[in-house]
Amino acid sequence: PQPNPQVGAAVKAADRAHVFHSWSAQELIDPPAIAGAEGACFWDYDGNRYLDFTSGLVYTNIGYQHPKVVAAIQEQAATMTTFAPAFAVEARSEAARLIAERTPGDLDKIFFTNAGADAVEHATRMARLHTGRPKVLAAYRGYHGGTHQAINLTGDPRRWASDTGTAGVVRFWAPFLYRSRFYAETEQQECERALQHLEDTIVFEGPQTIAAIILETVPGTAGIMVPPPGYLAGVRALCDKYGIVFILDEVMAGFGRTGEWFAADLFDVTPDLLTFAKGVNSGYVPLGGVAISGKIAETFAKRPYPGGLTYSGHPLACAAAVATINVMAEEGIVEHAANLGAQVIEPGLRELAERHPSVGEVRGVGMFWALELVKNRETREPLVPYNATGEANAPMAAFGAAAKKHGLWPFINMNRTHVVPACNITETEAKEGLAALDAALSVADEHTA
Ligand code: PLP
Repeated sequence: PQPNPQVGAAVKAADRAHVFHSWSAQELIDPPAIAGAEGACFWDYDGNRYLDFTSGLVYTNIGYQHPKVVAAIQEQAATMTTFAPAFAVEARSEAARLIAERTPGDLDKIFFTNAGADAVEHATRMARLHTGRPKVLAAYRGYHGGTHQAINLTGDPRRWASDTGTAGVVRFWAPFLYRSRFYAETEQQECERALQHLEDTIVFEGPQTIAAIILETVPGTAGIMVPPPGYLAGVRALCDKYGIVFILDEVMAGFGRTGEWFAADLFDVTPDLLTFAKGVNSGYVPLGGVAISGKIAETFAKRPYPGGLTYSGHPLACAAAVATINVMAEEGIVEHAANLGAQVIEPGLRELAERHPSVGEVRGVGMFWALELVKNRETREPLVPYNATGEANAPMAAFGAAAKKHGLWPFINMNRTHVVPACNITETEAKEGLAALDAALSVADEHTA
């Protein structure tokens, strides 16, 4: 398409006049006007094209505008755009069947929601009703969504303003060797000590008061910390020992992101409830849900589940999920994510880390990678302080601006950049992105000491 700066200016003017944006001081932001997107790229009205290393908010796992999914949405719109949730309709039934076929173990019933946060709301409600207990344990380093319960369960600073009404939320530290809270020097020590800390927390809180433990299988926004071998199996064992419901939040890690359909498959664990959204249909139409084990489904077999949504299992969103899952299977996108991650992204990032003193650690799996940027590799002091804004955040802002100058749209959170492109990105695109990161890291290097 031809660049059209006038249209871009009008889009931006109406946005600035009327759109109230998430998580932002409204007068301090400058949202770029986007004209289009395809595959792993998008472009603005001035003709600037960017390789998207963010997949939106880590959700366009099959890239933008996949023609088969766009066609399936058009076809569903032509036949049955919508229908109320109390009826059985083909798109909803088929989406549930395809998801249940892929979720681990006996997670065979699917409750559909509009997105990830409300999936977390419902999962915790189900756990409380199933156990009759009030508390939920959640990790400091985690993100679970922007609604009332989900933001309280979140660990990052975005919850601080909503920390009223935290009744029943208890926080603990999950493993993260690079910034160990347990003075650990090996993954094994980190794993053992994190499990001991979790068990102590359970015992001191009173096991009979704890409904659920919720964890992201691989924490995403908080820094892509792949848990050490044995940790999630250890949490599963603690849940079994104390009758606690184990919730794995796979809103970001699910549907191919880690090179498996679900990240739980990497660790061979089966939770009691699993939340999903984003990659289920690459966010083409909003959709999320909870996959429910036989045991918890049984609780609501004869007793009504007190929860529901007007759009639960919206046919347009479910048709997009059916098409997305089929496309991922037909095109081998999950395997591609695993292979390209292991053969191109990981070695490429490790090579960058060798040359750039600003890179403190490279970690991840599949198409789910983080670079921890530091001032000093020895002390591991972050390149910018926790939750920095303004001048204090200038080094990360300079890094981001340099990436964009080289045609790469980077994911940035605090002192980290995440490499989370579409799971079907080509090898050529991946290498282009790594080259742009190389240039941007040279700017970050200027802020090391
Ligand atoms: N859970 C996790 C792990 C997430 O990463 C997110 C969003 O980033 C959410 C829940 C919330 O999902 P949504 O923004 O669709 O409500």
